[in-house]
Amino acid sequence: MKNKKYTVKGNHYKTNGSMITKLVEHITTNEDWLMERILDYAIKRDYAKYTSTLTEPWRLSISGLSNSLVKAITIKGGDLELNPGENYADDPATQFGITEAKFHRERGIDLAMFLGLMKYYHQAYIDLIRESPFNEIDKKKYENLLNRFFNRVEIGFCSTWSTYSEKQIIDELQDRNRLMTNEKNKYLTIFESLSMPVFIVNPSGKIEGMNLAASRFFNLVAEPGENYYGDDRDELDFVVEFPWLKDIYEDFLQRSENKVFYEKKISDPTQYYYISCSRSLDISDKFQGSIFVIEDITNRKNMEKELEELATTDPLTRAKNRRYFLQFFEQEISRLQRYNKPFALLLLDVDHFKKINDKHGHDIGDNVLKNLVVESLSVLRDSDIFARWGGEEFIILLPESNAHEASTVAERLRSKLSKAEISGKEGVLITYTVSIGIRVVNQDETDLNVNDLIREADESLYMAKKKGRNRVVMI
Ligand code: GH3
Ligand code: MG
Ligand code: MG
Repeated sequence: MKNKKYTVKGNHYKTNGSMITKLVEHITTNEDWLMERILDYAIKRDYAKYTSTLTEPWRLSISGLSNSLVKAITIKGGDLELNPGENYADDPATQFGITEAKFHRERGIDLAMFLGLMKYYHQAYIDLIRESPFNEIDKKKYENLLNRFFNRVEIGFCSTWSTYSEKQIIDELQDRNRLMTNEKNKYLTIFESLSMPVFIVNPSGKIEGMNLAASRFFNLVAEPGENYYGDDRDELDFVVEFPWLKDIYEDFLQRSENKVFYEKKISDPTQYYYISCSRSLDISDKFQGSIFVIEDITNRKNMEKELEELATTDPLTRAKNRRYFLQFFEQEISRLQRYNKPFALLLLDVDHFKKINDKHGHDIGDNVLKNLVVESLSVLRDSDIFARWGGEEFIILLPESNAHEASTVAERLRSKLSKAEISGKEGVLITYTVSIGIRVVNQDETDLNVNDLIREADESLYMAKKKGRNRVVMI
């Protein structure tokens, strides 16, 4: 079976076609394995110092090599043996060597260094065969084929390298250097222009670099690029300089994730920051460390708080609204019971409120409701929850209160409100009364339902109204 992808038109394998197909398949399906192996050699043998930090170029180098290997054996069949009269111009193996030689020369890699690293590429492919499930005879043949392929790559780059004059090499290097400097400046400019503060912290906790926004953020320098070009480039200790980031930094070091986000609140004045911590993506181990990006989210947080406030507050009286109360009560009900203490629910309704409206006007009615809220809050504890249930009806949750305590609070509330005076038109002082219904929940009650409890408090309130108003009833 021939793999269509690697068959060049008009050329057929001269040797055992299926054997070659197996090798090609094995190599092309194991590119990740090859990449890891060569990276491993590069790091162990210190070549990674001169190589790329990102995964993709390594993957490309492996697929480039594998592709020219496949092309070479597709064109030449299984026979990659060398001979003196060979025309290397159309040999994919040699061509690959020539291209790579130019590319590496431009980056300042010398022949010995390049040849050395290429030996480890060669070794990685040989390892792949040795660790494959092929039989020993096939392994030998494949190894031999790979050896000849890499010999051809070497012939390619040695032959072009040797024809280069020193001037050509220097020109090539200078061109490349100019390009690289521009490229570096481009990314540096982008880094400096970022509006968010960015720090790079090395594995020993020292700040290796920061952009202008970061310097300004901490009042360190005022000019763009000062971090890179100034004389004073002593390393700053990250945790010492930014003690407020200490906990976050230490937590991040403990984590295995590559990216972790934190929110940090700072007081005086209150500010909120969103901090993203990432591990450097460098697979060559040259630039290990963490990258911190800080975003000031104070405005967003304040806006969220305002929205939350709007959504949970009654606009007329500024008391908590029904929605807030229900949400809180649903969440709290099991916790209230876990205290193993009773709690009480109170429903409060203004007596004959319609008459107040009718007699004094709706605005004065509104003032009565506002007064009721202020007076009630002055009687209640901070832990009590007081909300406008709707109209002239209010609901109160008294945590940790038994029947006696709840009646006492309700009575104090009723009495206090009955003494309140609101200015009406033409100096008239208006008073009002309220009726209160109580439902106390004892420790031994189970299966509590919020709606049932409120309905039962309402039944008590109804009784209070029925009995003549301005009173507290608990059933
Ligand atoms: P009861 O003693 O039986 O509770 O008599 P009531 O008049 O208080 O009862 P009812 O429920 O019949 O009337 C409540 C009134 O409250 C009717 C409504 O117009 C008035 N009301 C509801 N919300 C507001 C408000 O925001 N402002 C003002 N001024 N009045 C309101
Ligand atoms: Mg009423
Ligand atoms: Mg009512």
